[in-house]
Amino acid sequence: MSKEMSPGSEDKVAVIEARELFHLPQLVSQRLRDSARAHGAEDHHVVKYLWLRLDEQCRAATIDGECRSMDAEEWLNVVDEAASVGVECMVVYVGGVLSACPHLWTVSQWAQDVHGMTVGFHTSRKNLTEEEAGVLLQLDPALTWLFVEPEALANLSRLQEQGINVCCAEVDRKDATAACEGPKNLVCVGPNGLLYSCGSVLGVEGFRLGHVAEKPLGELLGDGGPDRAIADGTVRNELGCNGCPNEMAVRMAR
Ligand code: SF4
Repeated sequence: MSKEMSPGSEDKVAVIEARELFHLPQLVSQRLRDSARAHGAEDHHVVKYLWLRLDEQCRAATIDGECRSMDAEEWLNVVDEAASVGVECMVVYVGGVLSACPHLWTVSQWAQDVHGMTVGFHTSRKNLTEEEAGVLLQLDPALTWLFVEPEALANLSRLQEQGINVCCAEVDRKDATAACEGPKNLVCVGPNGLLYSCGSVLGVEGFRLGHVAEKPLGELLGDGGPDRAIADGTVRNELGCNGCPNEMAVRMAR
């Protein structure tokens, strides 16, 4: 198992320390949400779901023109900020082999262990290697999902016997260019830290919201932030709406 994918004892100590550090703010935030629910108020989330693209190669230049993928610390900051604005679930799309994806293990383990987030992995591959399955099995099974394309369900459903939740990632919309209000619940972060309304328009200039390094997520996306809705007639990218966290959350709840 590669070092990137294998949790060392130093990583574990860091996670335990971080969990302790974040415990009090998490408790306060959870109590506030519980209290709001008890008084009939709707949950107020700046975003409910985080959608990450952690491909090995960055697909476009960052906001300052540099072409690079974010490092582990930058990803962990994104997860911390997302947790601070109410995100309890993230979906990570990985284009290639999971074990070749930088920081995947670190970011996922951090999200689960420090923030108690549910983490879904969306892959377009038809099968996983034993190494990849082994890494998934090291995560918290109650907080780990694998979203796969319909043609991979037969192969990958075997992982359910080992404790990994497997679910279809396909989101079939009657009109592939129809308007959508769904992005008000989520934000998508590309491998270079650029933010987009959702994964189906990742890389499309008109839906770029900024860069994670510009401002904290709450400031970028909170009151007065850009309208994230998608207008009628918008052409989606090659993945379409597959893996959309709004729909995956419904499936997970079932
Ligand atoms: S992925 Fe599709 S369904 Fe989901 S928010 Fe984006 S446009 Fe809407």
